[in-house]
Amino acid sequence: MTPEEFREYGKQAVDWIADYLANIEKYPVLSQVSPGDVTRALPETPPERGEPFADVLADLDRIILPGITHWQHPGFFAYFPSNASGPAILGDLLSGGLGVQGMLWATSPACTELETVVVGWLARLLGLPGGFHGVIQDSASSASLIALLAALQRSGRDRARVYLTSETHSSLVKAVRIAGLDAGAVRTVAVDPATLAMDPADLQRLMAEDLAEGLTPAMVCATVGTTSTTAVDPVAAIGRLCRRHGAWLHVDAAYAGVAAVCSEFAWINDGVAEYADSYCTNPHKWLLTNFDCDVLWLADPAPMIEALSIQPEYLRNRASGSGAVIDYRDWQVPLGRRFRALKLWTVIRWYGRQGLQAHIRNHVDLAQRFAAWVAQDPAFEVREAHPFGLVCFRPRQGDPLELMERLNASGALYLTHTKIGDRVWLRMAIGGTYTELRHVRAAWDRIRAGQAAGASGGTSVVHSDDIPYME
Ligand SMILES: *Cc1c(COP(=O)(O)O)cnc(C)c1O
Repeated sequence: MTPEEFREYGKQAVDWIADYLANIEKYPVLSQVSPGDVTRALPETPPERGEPFADVLADLDRIILPGITHWQHPGFFAYFPSNASGPAILGDLLSGGLGVQGMLWATSPACTELETVVVGWLARLLGLPGGFHGVIQDSASSASLIALLAALQRSGRDRARVYLTSETHSSLVKAVRIAGLDAGAVRTVAVDPATLAMDPADLQRLMAEDLAEGLTPAMVCATVGTTSTTAVDPVAAIGRLCRRHGAWLHVDAAYAGVAAVCSEFAWINDGVAEYADSYCTNPHKWLLTNFDCDVLWLADPAPMIEALSIQPEYLRNRASGSGAVIDYRDWQVPLGRRFRALKLWTVIRWYGRQGLQAHIRNHVDLAQRFAAWVAQDPAFEVREAHPFGLVCFRPRQGDPLELMERLNASGALYLTHTKIGDRVWLRMAIGGTYTELRHVRAAWDRIRAGQAAGASGGTSVVHSDDIPYME
């Protein structure tokens, strides 16, 4: 593709994206295809000769779009959001345009130095300690794995124990497996049955028991905003125990951490500056930065670098040898790395602190309104704590999953569920880049109408455009 052809098709591709985003509400949120539909629509064999780019764009509409679940649809309330935004898309495009691979400082100094500066900016925006050393990872799962490898480097692997709760993200158990520890290395700390936050007294009990048996408390993972219900573990109390018993404290704030850009959420960082050895959050969830972008900060990167640095001759260079630069390859599992800092930079520059705050505050406000509507409706119950953008609720009658499936099949909204004890709850995660009050109201109307139809024996989804809103 010549630069002139690139210019032409590039403009078409950008127009395609702009049209897609402008019309996104016309698509069913959850893809309606059946398994194999997309595969069957694609040729079995690759083309012998190159094809026109216009044909690719046409197939994007014809084959790919029907198989897309529209994460940027304002009616997407499933899982947690995975925000995209104009500046992030452009930042990613520019990163692709440069086509650099930033494994070493020397392989593109700006790739490394912009990353160091931008993760420092984000630490400032979130009120995280100035002394933290940050790095961009693909995901929170990778960040937690790196934290665990660093913790094991510090503690030794022998008889190491890792403390989690039933609410800790599954990526921590996966990290324990990848790190080669056996399943017995995981100690499950009790949670407060009401808040689902880690019980520090139980952590103290388990650590003392383990120490008495000659085991090593290697790492505790505290979660700020659990995936199931956004419970917040008491980081400071956990941190004091980690300090006393020599355990590494990793704080997983994958979803909720970015809320600290608003001063009213400064409390979610309580204990982080004093006690955290590592902390991660995902701008790719709720901070307008296209997937993938997790930021991991470490109080001291030395154990991680000891765990991960290997110096083959073909990667040696004068800058690395001088010790004056960071080689981020030693801060992650793969060698090669994308220039992700560019999209985080374009996002922070485009929105500024105030724009990011407005984004978070809007969703928190919508979630509080939604929770109030649910609380006022006798047909539903709502779980009490919902400080961020997630509200867990359930119909008092009937099967919540059946209601959810009917709503999701309508194409107007997309919800997912969780289980607390043996009860199923629906999760309404409000945080889409384009989600406004009218979308949340329309979703609530459909949920109420769907429940009413289910309760009266109806099975089809009611289109409830004329049901008055409850304020
Ligand atoms: C989403 C989530 C993760 C996993 O995030 P990835 O970036 O997809 O690996 C980890 N922890 C928590 C608390 C999460 O909500």
